[in-house]
Amino acid sequence: LVPTAIVTGASSGVGLYATKSLIDRGWHVVMACRDLAKASRVAGSLGLNPALFTVSHLDLGVQDSVRAFVAEFLASGRDLDALVNNAAVYKPRLTEPARSLEGYELSVATNHLGHFLLSRLLMAKLQQAASPRLITLGTVTANAEEFGGKVPIPAPADLGELEGLEQGFRTPVAMIDGKPFKPGKAYKDSKLCNMIISRELHRRYHERTGIVFNTLYPGCVADTALFRDTPPAFQRIFPWFQKHITKGYVTQELSGDRVAQVVADDAFAQSGVHWSWGNRQNGRTAFAQPLAAKAQHVARAARLWTLSEQMVGLP
Ligand code: NDP
Repeated sequence: LVPTAIVTGASSGVGLYATKSLIDRGWHVVMACRDLAKASRVAGSLGLNPALFTVSHLDLGVQDSVRAFVAEFLASGRDLDALVNNAAVYKPRLTEPARSLEGYELSVATNHLGHFLLSRLLMAKLQQAASPRLITLGTVTANAEEFGGKVPIPAPADLGELEGLEQGFRTPVAMIDGKPFKPGKAYKDSKLCNMIISRELHRRYHERTGIVFNTLYPGCVADTALFRDTPPAFQRIFPWFQKHITKGYVTQELSGDRVAQVVADDAFAQSGVHWSWGNRQNGRTAFAQPLAAKAQHVARAARLWTLSEQMVGLP
């Protein structure tokens, strides 16, 4: 039987190459993308076999779109073996916050709230699979256990006491901690939410459902379109710097293959783990990396869960 994975943001970078690697491993992939024409085009340019993927519309910044995507998927009658929460936006040069349709700051709305809603709505379907997994892309810059997580440009990820969420997270509030808008930090905060929620899903659902909930840092994929809104000079220098100075660079192909390993391989069957291959990438094997205390604060995670439910209209 061919297992099925949903991959969000499969039209570019890590998600596209994860799609390719999963297909190479015998999976069917539902490419959940906001731009269907682009998704079909890039799948064609990699020569993916059209029988082994489906392109389906999903805009994570619009809650009705998430609900419509789930309804369409459930109506398709497909089984669901893995959900890969991969899509993200990073808009470090905004001077004013962009907003989702519901009025929330866009990077948190897309990267965190959209995936939170998607995960919750697919939970009942996912738990019907024989060995289901829900895998979420984390990142080094949101994990203070790693050097990258300590870099103060513009500031490390920090959710404070969730003051901004407590205030409703709509204009004029733009940051989870309620402080003034810092677009690069908003991205890091959203990724920290991804890692916190994955652990919270593990605590709440793993024993009951058997679903394996993991996050991973796939390495520094410095030449993806994630960096499309950074200054042009940064886009030239950053990949070079990561290749030759930090040696943290990985290709899009390798990052996608790492995602596919975490989705499909027996070696990654333990739940509640953050997988990493470290900073210097040459010849490294995966290891379970501890998360920073900020990601392990149980009471704050529970509060983030409750506030996120309210923001996406879950009972
Ligand atoms: P890309 O920009 O190449 O890919 C991001 C994907 O997300 C694209 O397919 C994009 O669609 C999609 N997307 C953006 N907004 C939405 C939305 N509202 N609804 C649906 N899809 C959306 O970035 P990467 O491949 O680099 O990033 C993928 C993941 O990997 C992210 O979670 C990122 O945080 C993580 N990551 C990346 C690292 C890196 O070094 N690049 C390092 C660590 C983690 P479209 O094609 O239409 O723009």
